[in-house]
Amino acid sequence: MVKYDTVLIRYGELTTKGKNRKDFIRQLERNIRHILEDIDGLVYERTYDRMYIRLNGADSETVGERLKKVFGISSFSFTEKVASDIETISQTCLRIAAESGKNTFKIIARRHDKTFPMVSDQINRAAASVILKNTDLRVDVHEPQLPIYIEVHREYTYITSDKIRGAGGYPTGINGRVLLLLSGGIDSPVAAYELMKRGLRVEAVHFAAPPYTSDNARQKVIDLAGMVSEYQGSMRVHVINFTNLQLKIYEKAGDSYAITIMRRMMFRIAEAIARKENCLAIATGESIGQVASQTLESMSVINDVVRIPVIRPLVCADKIEIIDLARKIGTYETSILPYEDCCTIFDPKNPVTRPTLKRCEEIEEKFEYQPYIEECITGEEIVIAEPKKEREDYL
Ligand code: ATP
Ligand code: MG
Repeated sequence: MVKYDTVLIRYGELTTKGKNRKDFIRQLERNIRHILEDIDGLVYERTYDRMYIRLNGADSETVGERLKKVFGISSFSFTEKVASDIETISQTCLRIAAESGKNTFKIIARRHDKTFPMVSDQINRAAASVILKNTDLRVDVHEPQLPIYIEVHREYTYITSDKIRGAGGYPTGINGRVLLLLSGGIDSPVAAYELMKRGLRVEAVHFAAPPYTSDNARQKVIDLAGMVSEYQGSMRVHVINFTNLQLKIYEKAGDSYAITIMRRMMFRIAEAIARKENCLAIATGESIGQVASQTLESMSVINDVVRIPVIRPLVCADKIEIIDLARKIGTYETSILPYEDCCTIFDPKNPVTRPTLKRCEEIEEKFEYQPYIEECITGEEIVIAEPKKEREDYL
């Protein structure tokens, strides 16, 4: 494994200009610093279209694994920053080639500083000849096992041999805040990931119904929040005790409308919390047609109780796609743990698939639900979920 001293970071979807661009880069740097904050010695540098992190001996593998989870990075490379003279450049290329364990190479030089005395092709030849003279590596211009990129700037030259794909998207937080209804299921954690990828900072609200739902079920949700919070640093989770309201709903709504009315109550509470926390929208993991409560008719009568925008990142995704993503972000195994959810506990036998607004309103007129909603909101408990970082190496 070649040891590099610098990470070069290329920005993602920088289609925006001017102030937006500045905000993008500033937020990205903030997010990167946050995710690497426990690693000592790092020094940050920014140029117009790049960011560099000097490692000063920090473990590049750990830094690389963390950077893969930062939205707004299109790609990054480990690189060696050296003085811009051909002797130093060639010797560095030689060291990278010798330590690589590869058989073939190609040098790809780019001269950003046009005052540098050699053109790209001359740099290629000079560095290649040093490698050819001192190692057994051969040149392969078509499919080199080891491409070595040389970027010559005025003072420094960056030499790198790998390009690692970043997470893409926008830096989390740049596009505002959203309140996600987070259950312990497969979908809502994936929805969190999609929201963060679009640059939104995600807070969560979770409805629990103790003692019908257990501490394990609650902890599972906090764990899931912690896992996805790797993409934004940490996540505030508003845990709502939903039991009294839920029991009331089942008493008043009857079997078929219970789920619909319950969801309407969840939305009302979520909207109130979102406004209190300056979130500009609420979000769910719903996907059309997945279950009875997710037909277009259901979504429409549920949506009717709020004025705040509702974002459903997975609305058109297939379950298979969602499961693949859940596996990729590491939430799947936790999501399928068989703990009860407040919905499954009171799972009605015959939920209505095409609820009507009229019927919902008739049911809700039958009881004073507002005090119950207020009780839920004032009784909220806020938990800060954090990613589990492997910090041991750095203590
Ligand atoms: P998920 O896997 O996200 O639970 P699901 O396919 O099981 O989704 P539902 O249980 O019908 O679907 O829930 C739809 C959406 O409603 C969830 O994605 C989530 O946003 C929200 N939701 C459901 N139950 C809760 C809960 N107990 N607390 C907070 N939000 C919930
Ligand atoms: Mg669910």
